[in-house]
Amino acid sequence: APHHPADQPSSSDGFIRVRGAREHNLRDVDVDIPRDRIVAFTGVSGSGKSSLAFGTVFAEAQRRFLESVAPYARRLIAQGSTPHVDSITGLPPAVALQQRRGAPSTRSTVGTLTTLSNSVRMLYSRAGTYPEGAEQLYSDSFSPNTATGACPRCHGLGTAHEVTEASAVHDPSLSIRDGAITAWPGAWQGKNLRDVTAVLGYDIDRPWRDLPQADRDWLLFTEEQPVVQVHPKRDRVAKPYKGRFWSARQYTLHTLADSQSEAQRNKAMRFVQSGPCQLCGGSGLTRAALAVTFGGLSIARFNALPLTEVAEVLRPAATLTDPAPAQSRVTSGERSEVAKSIAADLLSRVEVLTGLGLGYLGLDRATPTLSPGEMQRLRIATQLRSGLFGVVYVLDEPSAGLHPADAEPLVRVLEDLRASGNSVFVVEHDMDIVRQADWIVDVGPGAGSGGGHVLYSGPPEGLAEVAESVTRRFLQPGRAVPAHEQRTPVGTLEIRDVSLHNLDHLDVDLPLGVMTAVTGVSGSGKSSLVGGVLPAVATAHPIVSRVVEVDQKPIGRTPRSNLATYTGMFDAVRQAFAATDHARQRGWSAGRFSFNVEGGRCEVCQGEGSVSVELLFLPGSWAPCPECHGSRYNAETLEVHRNGASIADVLGMTVDEAAAALDDLPAASRALDALRSVGLGYLRLGQPAPELSGGEAQRIKLATELQRARSGHTLYLLDEPTTGLHPADVELLTAQLARLTDAGNTVVVVEHTMSVVAQADHVIDMGPAGGDEGGRVVAAGTPAAVAAAPDSRTAPFLRAALG
Ligand code: ADP
Ligand code: ADP
Ligand code: ZN
Ligand code: ZN
Repeated sequence: APHHPADQPSSSDGFIRVRGAREHNLRDVDVDIPRDRIVAFTGVSGSGKSSLAFGTVFAEAQRRFLESVAPYARRLIAQGSTPHVDSITGLPPAVALQQRRGAPSTRSTVGTLTTLSNSVRMLYSRAGTYPEGAEQLYSDSFSPNTATGACPRCHGLGTAHEVTEASAVHDPSLSIRDGAITAWPGAWQGKNLRDVTAVLGYDIDRPWRDLPQADRDWLLFTEEQPVVQVHPKRDRVAKPYKGRFWSARQYTLHTLADSQSEAQRNKAMRFVQSGPCQLCGGSGLTRAALAVTFGGLSIARFNALPLTEVAEVLRPAATLTDPAPAQSRVTSGERSEVAKSIAADLLSRVEVLTGLGLGYLGLDRATPTLSPGEMQRLRIATQLRSGLFGVVYVLDEPSAGLHPADAEPLVRVLEDLRASGNSVFVVEHDMDIVRQADWIVDVGPGAGSGGGHVLYSGPPEGLAEVAESVTRRFLQPGRAVPAHEQRTPVGTLEIRDVSLHNLDHLDVDLPLGVMTAVTGVSGSGKSSLVGGVLPAVATAHPIVSRVVEVDQKPIGRTPRSNLATYTGMFDAVRQAFAATDHARQRGWSAGRFSFNVEGGRCEVCQGEGSVSVELLFLPGSWAPCPECHGSRYNAETLEVHRNGASIADVLGMTVDEAAAALDDLPAASRALDALRSVGLGYLRLGQPAPELSGGEAQRIKLATELQRARSGHTLYLLDEPTTGLHPADVELLTAQLARLTDAGNTVVVVEHTMSVVAQADHVIDMGPAGGDEGGRVVAAGTPAAVAAAPDSRTAPFLRAALG
C-alpha cells in the first residue's frame, strides 16, 4: 500500500528534504535539494530524473495543494497521485511546465496564451488613433471572441463560406430539371424547388450555361424567398401546395448554420468556397475596430507582425519623454501617459520572448502549430509576469529545440525567476545549461532498475569527483568529437524553387547516401525544409525508394499498443507460446495469447489491465483491474509457461531481461537487440504507448527500422532526435545513425546538438535568423567548412565541437 507522507511544517533551513522516495525505479532515495536556486536534474534517459522531479517533488506539492482546496477529496486523491515517498519537508507550492503539444483549442494563439493580447486590446482601446468622429471602443471590441468584437459575417472566425457559381453548379451542361444546381437538396425537396422555379417563370429545361447571367445570379444568390402556388402537373394524385423559393446560397448557408445533422452540414460544405472573410479580411473583427490604428497599423496587422517588429512599433511610445496627460476626447492617444505605460509594459514582455529566440512568432499564430519546445518557452516567459514567488518551477528540458546561440537568454530567464524568489528545477541534458546551474542532482548510474540512485547532490564542481556518474565526463566544456572519415555521396537531390512558410524560392542540394545535419536558430526553416519539402521532392527521385520520417509522435494512443506490439516482436512471442506442449494440448493458437481479442484476455478489463475509476471532479483516472490485477489475461491462459514465464511475465520484462529470456527466438532477438542498441534496454515490453516519452517513441521507431531487412535506398528524416537524451545516449544514437548511413541509406537530421552535427558528412545551415529573416541557406558543406563560414550563427558552436 502506498505510504502517505505526513504534512510537515516547512523547515526554514533552505532545503527541501526528500526521504524514502520510491516512485517508479527510485531506490529509497534520500536527497536534500536547496530552495531558491537553479537545480539541474541529470542522468541518462530512464535513470529516474523525472520520477524524482515530477513524480515525487511536484506530485507531492500538487497533492498538498489539492488537499488544501478540497479536504473532503483526501481519500480520492490518495488513490490516484500520491507519490511513493516517506516524507518531504520544506516543500513550497510547485508549478510544472511540461512539454505538451499545443492546446487543441484552435482559437488559442501566441497572444492569448501569453495574455499579451489583453494588453494589446487595451492599447488600441485607450491609446489608439480613431477616425474623426468615431466612438471610443472598449477593449472587448478588439477581440473576435466577444459579442461586441466579432465580425458580423463570419462571427469572429475569420473564415467565411461563400457560395459561388462554380461551387454550386458542378456541371453547367445540365438543365435545372436534370440537377444543374448541385447545391440544392435532392429527393422531393429538390423537386419542389424545381417546380417553384418553373412557376416563377424560369426555363428549367435549358442547359444551365445557356441561361442569361441575370437569371443564373438570381437563382443562385438572391435573398428573396417568394412563395408561390404550385400545381403538380405530372402527378395527378398530389394536391396543389404553396412552395417557397430558396436560392442556392440561402439554402446552403441555412444548412450550415442551422442543420442539426452533421452529415447535412458536411454535404453543404461541398458547395461552398472557404476563404478569408471578405468583410473583415480574415481578422474576425468589426470594421469599427479595424479602423483604429496604433503606429499606423490596424490591430489585425499588428497581431500578424513577428514579435521582433512588434517591439519596434511599441518602442517610440514606450520611451516617450513628455507624454501628454490622458484625455478622454481626442482622436489619438498615442502620445499619452496611458500609451507610454501600456506600451512599456508590453515591450518588456515582448523582449523576454524575443530574447528566448521566439521573435519570429506573431501574436496571431495558432498554438496547435507550435512545437512543444516553443510552447514551453512561451509558458516560462508568461510565468515571469505572474508575480508568484516562493514557488518551485519544475521544467522539462527547457532547452529542447533551442539553438546554442539562444541558450544564454534562456539561462537569464531562469535566473530572473530565481531572483524573484523562486526555486527552479530543470530536468536538462544540455551541458551548457547544466554547467550554469547552482546545484546538480545526478541520478543513475544506469536506466530503469540499473538506475534510481542519487549519485550526487551539490554544486556543479563537485560532480567531477563522482566516479560512478555518467554525466561527469560530459560536464567539462569543449570535448572534441572524434574525427571520422567523410562518406562519398552516391547522388544529389536537387531541390529547386520551393516555397513553404518562410522558404521563398529556395534552391538547395542534398547529397544522397550520406548523413546531413540541418542547423539554424529556431524558426529559420529547418522543419519546413525537412518535414515539409523533402518528403515530397524525394519520392520523385530515382535513387530513393522509400522515405521514412522518424518523428516523436506517439507509437500509439491507447494503452493497447506498446513496444512489443509496435516492433512486431510480440507476434513471434505469441507463436512461441502457442507452440508449447501445454497450449497444443488445449488446441490454442497464437491468437489465444493476444490481449486484444476475446479468448485469452481478461474479459473484465477486456485486456486493458486497468479499469477507469469515476472520481467526482478529477478527470478519468485508472486503477488496476480487480480480476487480472493488471496482467491483462485470464487465469487459464496464464497457466501456460514457456521457460518458466507466462505471457504476462514476458510483457512485464524489460528489454534487457527479455533479450536474455527470449534468445532462442530469432525474430524477437533482432528487435530486442535493436532496442538495446538505441539505449532502450530499460523499457518494459508491455509499457503502454501513452506512457512513453516523445524521445522514447522516436527511438523505438528508429530501432524498428534498424531491424528491418534492408532493400533499396531509404531516406530517413529525423527532427531533433536528441531531444530528451543524455549526452551518453546521444553517442549511442549517433552510432546507430552512422550504421543506417553505412548501409547505403540517406540520413537527414534537424539538430542543435553540435556533437551530432560535427559527425555528419554534410551540413546545411539555415538562417540567418527566424521567420522572414530566415528561410535561406547561410552555409552548406562539410562540418569544417560550415564551422568556418563567417555569417553563420552556428559556426562558433560547431567550431567548439570540432575542437
Ligand atoms: P528519466 O526522467 O531519467 O528519463 P524516468 O523517471 O522517466 O526517467 O523513468 C525512470 C524509470 O521509471 C524508467 O524505467 C521508466 O520506464 C519508469 N517509468 C516512468 N514512468 C512510468 C510510469 N508511468 N509507470 C511505470 N514506470 C514508469
Ligand atoms: P525551424 O524548424 O527552423 O524552427 P520552422 O520550419 O518550424 O523553423 O519555421 C520556419 C518559419 O515558418 C517560422 O517563421 C515559423 O513561424 C513558420 N511556420 C512554421 N510552421 C508554420 C505553420 N504551420 N503555419 C504558419 N507558419 C509556420
Ligand atoms: Zn469576418
Ligand atoms: Zn483484467
